[in-house]
Amino acid sequence: NWTFDTASAGSRGGEGRQVMDLPVAAIRRPLGRTRGNDQAKVEALMESIKEIGLQEPIDVLEVDGVYYGFSGCHRFEAHQRLGAETIRCRVRKANKEVLKMHMM
Ligand code: ADP
Repeated sequence: NWTFDTASAGSRGGEGRQVMDLPVAAIRRPLGRTRGNDQAKVEALMESIKEIGLQEPIDVLEVDGVYYGFSGCHRFEAHQRLGAETIRCRVRKANKEVLKMHMM
C-alpha cells in the first residue's frame, strides 16, 4: 500500500499527483481485494456518499494511461453499488517498476 504526501497534492501541473473524476469502469483492481470488504462499512459509506459525497478521493496509480486502484476498496465498491459513473481519484503517474512493487 502507498500513501500520498498531501502537502504537495495539486501543487504541480501535469506531473505528480492530481485529483480528477475517473470512470469507475476504467479503474483496474489488480489485487481484487473488494471481495474481502466489510459489507456493513460499504453500506454505511454508500449512505454517506449519497448524502455528502466522497470526502476523500481514492488513490490511483497511472501507468501508460491505465489506472490501477490498490486502496480505497470500500469507497470503490460503494461507488460501484451506487451505480456511480465516476469516482474522485488522486492520481499519481508511475512506471512499470513502481507498478510491479505495488503488485507484490
Ligand atoms: P477504504 O477501503 O475505502 O479505504 P476505509 O473504511 O478504510 O475504506 O476508509 C473509509 C474512508 O472513506 C475514510 O478515509 C473516510 O475519510 C473516507 N470517506 C470519504 N468520503 C466519505 C464519506 N462521504 N463518508 C464517510 N467516509 C468517507
